Amino acid sequence: MLERSLFEERKSRSTRYVDPPETELGIPENLIRKTDLKNFPGLSEPEVVRHFTNLSALNYGIDNNFYPLGSCSMKYNPKINEALAELDEFVDIHPYMDEEYAQGALQIMYELERLLSEITGMYEFTLHPSAGAHGELTGLFIAKAYFDDRKERRNLVIVPDSAHGTNPASAAMAGFNVVEVKSDKRGLISPSAIQPYLNEDLALIMLTNPNTLGLFEEDIEEIARLTHNAGGLLYYDGANLNGIIGITRPGDMGFDIVHLNLHKTFSTPHGGGGPGSGSVGVKEYLAPFLPIPRVIHGDNCYTLDYNLPKSIGKIKCFYGNFTVLVKAYCYIRLLGRENLRSIAEMATLNANYLQERLSEILDIPYKRLCKHEFVASLKFLKNRGIRALDIAKALIDKGFHPPTVYFPLIVEEAIMIEPTETESLDTLDRFVEALKEILDTAESDPSLVKESPRSHRVKRVDEAKASRMLRVRW
Ligand SMILES: *Cc1c(COP(=O)(O)O)cnc(C)c1O
Repeated sequence: MLERSLFEERKSRSTRYVDPPETELGIPENLIRKTDLKNFPGLSEPEVVRHFTNLSALNYGIDNNFYPLGSCSMKYNPKINEALAELDEFVDIHPYMDEEYAQGALQIMYELERLLSEITGMYEFTLHPSAGAHGELTGLFIAKAYFDDRKERRNLVIVPDSAHGTNPASAAMAGFNVVEVKSDKRGLISPSAIQPYLNEDLALIMLTNPNTLGLFEEDIEEIARLTHNAGGLLYYDGANLNGIIGITRPGDMGFDIVHLNLHKTFSTPHGGGGPGSGSVGVKEYLAPFLPIPRVIHGDNCYTLDYNLPKSIGKIKCFYGNFTVLVKAYCYIRLLGRENLRSIAEMATLNANYLQERLSEILDIPYKRLCKHEFVASLKFLKNRGIRALDIAKALIDKGFHPPTVYFPLIVEEAIMIEPTETESLDTLDRFVEALKEILDTAESDPSLVKESPRSHRVKRVDEAKASRMLRVRW
């Protein structure tokens, strides 16, 4: 009865819509204004231009100044890659277009998969996932399909206590049980930490290497051997490849699955919630489970192959965020092998320079040679009533974007600094000076630091509300 009346209701509505009474102008009667137009903004062109220009200047980005947001690789992305990705030939194609007319796009995807495989030491790549967390989920689905295929029931995923929050979340979402293992005094995962879980229930160990402390997991080969002997797989969270690109490869370390954030390492700016890519690479024995379709190189042409019987299926409409892929492709091809390696060299040099200089004024609990980032602790300021968040906010007054704070969770009052390879010595020195000045103020007049940022229109926001009740438009 109810269904029927709903149906009638819908039908009558749709009739009204399809055949509205029209006026002479061809405008439906119900859309004609009944009252006079009031309060219509009357602004001159310069007023409008100024309004929007000023609004645009309220935004802070890597084009303004230093952005040392640890774990995020907020580096400068060459504008040429944006220009290339914006070419009509790329933006005017449509996924429903006949493959015959999209050969160039397919070739770029095909070649990018080969380049990423080479960079990471993997056998095949999929470009479909649209973010890092999405890549993790895809990788975990692939692992699940692999174990199902072998008729093995393995449910356990190990993540370190320093892991990015998306790792345990993705594992749980893919239906695994998650166990957290503790980092040791070095800030690393030791083989003995995983020992209790090396049994027939172990599915995967998810690791970031260098880990989120910016430290290289020295026992990685032994961990890989133990994991594989127990029948498990090793998952590489390669959101940030800046620390090792061109120098070592996850595949050579023994990892079976890796995801890369093209929007961190490979020339897509991020942080504003725009499109990204969490491309996933796998070793040969996992390739049959990759999502469909696959781009294949047939007789002198590229085609899309849906015929992969063991595939986990589709994980995104069409073929990934294509223009992000174009940017990654251009970036890799423009830099070439030697210059890709210099990304890691410069990112590591910059991070160690900053770590060394800041160790005079900050406490660095796991101080060793770091890779692309390091983590300091501001616990020593607690007795003055000052927290990491206050120092982060005070940096805004000095014209810098604050570093990541309170992550990784294993460092109290953490401040995580990733300078990236695209910053000059001068910028790094200015950042050190700014932090020194802030710490001096924290000594002499702590309330000034607690009130920061003082130079901006928006002062302190309710952080919890801002992240939990997201309103991204009015
Ligand atoms: C950024 C990041 C992720 C998640 O990537 P998203 O694209 O934000 O989903 C995962 N792991 C690490 C280490 C990261 O830095």
